[in-house]
Amino acid sequence: MANYGMAFDYELCIDCHACEVACKEENGIALGMEHRRLWIQKDGDIEGDFWNIDKSSVSFVQMQCQNCVNPPCLEACERKAIYIDENAIVRIYKDKCDLLLSCMKACPYDARYIDDTHFFTDKCIFCADTRLARGETTTACQITCPAKLRYFGDLNDEESEIVQMLKKRDFFVLKESEGTIPKLFYFIPKNKEFAQKTIEKGTKIYTWGEMKPKIQPLNLKKI
Ligand code: SF4
Ligand code: SF4
Repeated sequence: MANYGMAFDYELCIDCHACEVACKEENGIALGMEHRRLWIQKDGDIEGDFWNIDKSSVSFVQMQCQNCVNPPCLEACERKAIYIDENAIVRIYKDKCDLLLSCMKACPYDARYIDDTHFFTDKCIFCADTRLARGETTTACQITCPAKLRYFGDLNDEESEIVQMLKKRDFFVLKESEGTIPKLFYFIPKNKEFAQKTIEKGTKIYTWGEMKPKIQPLNLKKI
């Protein structure tokens, strides 16, 4: 049993969308579809010169399901169709989903969408049905990213690359005030000015020692 999570060195993103294309290919999603499983959110002035941060406040943030430890989508589902699997990934029993969309409304990250072929609410599940099911230990987005800014792995494994990185670099999470306890972590940019421009004032900065006790699954429901 693993406790999967992901970390991003978002300062390095070049907005190439290779991750999005790889994700769609892995999961059988048509290329033209927007906001499916993962997307790159642009913050700031997109007319600015991204390569010269003196002139620009543009940043590209990797967005997808946060695979929350305390997921409001799970709590909101009247049909009890949502559960946390043995690898601490938030999943859904597809045949139980009645498309009432309570989970979509409850998610603070807008991470879910309607799979209108199989009729349930889908989202990023860290390639659990494809790569992880085949015994692989990488996700399609992570392996494809040319900037190598995505780190994926078992947060319970002190030797994993993601934990090694989280021990070295401070980070923050998105919408901490929602109480979701996300398992997606964003590294503080090395460039201080870029960090100031892209991190909201008052955001809590974490070390691994502070985060580790928080990320043990609270709602683990066996499949
Ligand atoms: S990010 Fe949204 S969809 Fe994903 S586990 Fe959290 S509440 Fe659920
Ligand atoms: S593949 Fe990497 S660099 Fe390209 S958009 Fe995705 S996260 Fe950014």
